[in-house]
Amino acid sequence: MVGARPGGPDHRVAERPLPAAGVCLVCAGAGWVSLDVPVGHPMFGRAFRCECLDRQEEERKFEELLRLSNLEPFRSKTFATFDPRLPGVGHAYERCRQYAQDPMGWLVLCGPFGCGKTHLAAAIANEAVSRNSKVLFTVVPDLLDHLRATFAPSSPIQYDDLFEAVRTTPLLVLDDLGTEHASSWAQEKLYQLLNHRYNNELPTVVTTNRRLDDLDDRIASRLSDRALGEIILLENARDYRPRQDGERRRKRTPR
Ligand SMILES: [Zn+2]
Repeated sequence: MVGARPGGPDHRVAERPLPAAGVCLVCAGAGWVSLDVPVGHPMFGRAFRCECLDRQEEERKFEELLRLSNLEPFRSKTFATFDPRLPGVGHAYERCRQYAQDPMGWLVLCGPFGCGKTHLAAAIANEAVSRNSKVLFTVVPDLLDHLRATFAPSSPIQYDDLFEAVRTTPLLVLDDLGTEHASSWAQEKLYQLLNHRYNNELPTVVTTNRRLDDLDDRIASRLSDRALGEIILLENARDYRPRQDGERRRKRTPR
């Protein structure tokens, strides 16, 4: 209606337009800031990197880790949806539940395809997510593909950053070790990754359907070190034990 009085006070104090939502209030999105100092001051005219750039960098790395973390298709694989009454899985179920309460050391879940080892490994990861703990769940061949992809010039993240994030994540769940294409590059990366976590005793869960003897010797010796971890065999998986059980046990000597 023409001439209607405004419904209420509409006096905006700030005349200057505010930066759009999400834009840094310090640099207004420029990424660089200069100090408000008089001409002649040594800092006059010098630009400094705004801290919002560092935050963006951290977020990018975190998103890349999330992209790498393959847990989404496994979200329904929890302890509640696992049937521990199936033959041969009761002990594994109990042990994994215990581990998930407070992940320490290593768990190696061995068994043939379809025995439930991936379900239990995902359940451990999902439990960590539900507690807001940082966890990376990844299928080994996918992890290696991701690491390789970081060498492309268009990659949003550098190889070193991604490898460091995987190496140091508070809980790492590696599904399907031994199915990767065993190039020497892949073996070396996996060894470096697992050796770092071994020497630093970082909580790590590994599943494999291979005999440990069939894996890279250096990796197998770390997986079968009872001082740090435990090998759990699932359903009819007795054959997956190392051939000379115990002979691989070595004194833990960080190298
Ligand atoms: Zn800024």
